[in-house]
Amino acid sequence: MAKQIRCECGFIAQGDDDEGVVSEIEKHMRSDHPAVLAGMDRAEIFGWIEEG
Ligand SMILES: [Zn+2]
Repeated sequence: MAKQIRCECGFIAQGDDDEGVVSEIEKHMRSDHPAVLAGMDRAEIFGWIEEG
């Protein structure tokens, strides 16, 4: 089952599994929202995962 995470800016990260989609959104946030990412706990990001 594909997974996705919707960023507040409209970007949608997609991956084949939890680890993949979290890596994608982290990559996006590192370039576009580094300050937000710095204040995040990785477990919180896992909580954003939706079934795609
Ligand atoms: Zn974003």
